[in-house]
Amino acid sequence: MASVRFDHHKLSGRILLALGLGLAFGLALNASIADQAWVQIWLLDGIFYVVGEAFIGFLSMLIVPIVFVSLVVGVASLSDPKSLGRISALAIGLYMLTTGIAVILALGAAVIVQPGVGANPGEGVTRDIAAAPSFIQVLIDIVPRNPVQVMAEGVMLPLIVFSVLLGLAVAFAGEDGKRVASFFNDFNTVIMRLVGIVMSLAPYGVFALVTNMAATTGWGAFAGVLKYVLLVFVVLMIQAFVIYPMLLRTFAGLNPFVFLHKMRDALTFAFSTASSGATIPVTLRAVQERVGVSNKISSFTIPLGATINMDGTAIMQGLATGFIAQYYGIDLSMSQYLMVVMMVIVASVGTAGVPGVGLVLLAGVLTQVGLPVEGIALILGVDRILDMTRTAVNVCGDGVVTTIVARVENEFDESIFNDPDAGDRLTPAPA
Ligand code: ASP
Repeated sequence: MASVRFDHHKLSGRILLALGLGLAFGLALNASIADQAWVQIWLLDGIFYVVGEAFIGFLSMLIVPIVFVSLVVGVASLSDPKSLGRISALAIGLYMLTTGIAVILALGAAVIVQPGVGANPGEGVTRDIAAAPSFIQVLIDIVPRNPVQVMAEGVMLPLIVFSVLLGLAVAFAGEDGKRVASFFNDFNTVIMRLVGIVMSLAPYGVFALVTNMAATTGWGAFAGVLKYVLLVFVVLMIQAFVIYPMLLRTFAGLNPFVFLHKMRDALTFAFSTASSGATIPVTLRAVQERVGVSNKISSFTIPLGATINMDGTAIMQGLATGFIAQYYGIDLSMSQYLMVVMMVIVASVGTAGVPGVGLVLLAGVLTQVGLPVEGIALILGVDRILDMTRTAVNVCGDGVVTTIVARVENEFDESIFNDPDAGDRLTPAPA
């Protein structure tokens, strides 16, 4: 049977082109006619908004089915279900390690560069910031007391717990379990193809989202906080191009630049949508079909990482804390710095990776160390572009840890990693 060719290189190229065009077009609008009523009504709040939201909606549509089905398949097929404990410990440990490195880098940069000294952000923008859930509540909410509700609401941690338990039950249920496993296996293949179909809409979605962001973020917002913005960018780049490559080389023995290249779709999606949650389907596809991580590992570590691992967000929080303290002329003590590190590592555990959640976490950190929460208003105007960039780093970190865990657990297919065309087909290659 002829297989449908799905030229992924071309699609990746088109997605990147859409990103570049969106930036250029959005900036051009911003510099010229963005404030005219018809542009606002018909383009920015009209067609671009609808297309962008619809695209995020289609991606979100995939999250619950893909996490549920692929986790059941992954756990049911573990040759030794007890290895799950080891895999979880390794993944959670590495996620905390990368977040710890990220926030320490950020605090170090804030202390050295002092971005808040002499900053002049004006009045700032105000917005109500919701409170992050307490750690105790997060622990209680992990129990999936009603799986249907958990799925309906798409809450990640209890969904992971339910899927893992069901997968274990399938593994232990003998012949009957094997039949269920085989159904889930087929279903998983179908859903991965559905991801491919949604991805083919990406160039339009990405163009619309990026155009809107560029057209509505005025240059004026950057004026007083440029040092902060640039510093966040620089530290995000250090995490992506220095820390991750070092970890990948040391613990996985892999060429980090091949890895980054293979993650390009996931990174572009993360940037455009500013949501590591909505990017889960694309990240899963990238690490499985391009990088070579088995479903057993990635079906667990990717959704987990999208929820508990936010290295880019940690960088923003570290720098923003330093910035706000300096702006208000408050000196932080060593124990306050340590508190920031601990808070940043722990706080992200219970909050899903959705746009802007970093600010909610930041509010918690500021309160904890006794800094004025109103300080957030100073950086709110520039947060969207930083949100997009840090989300790409968040997703990259999920991919790095997943790849290392897969290497350590021998669940990694090097031939896929070394094949530059891997992941290009819409249907699996004929045997
Ligand atoms: N948007 C980020 C994410 O989804 C979280 C944040 O930093 O606001 O990973």
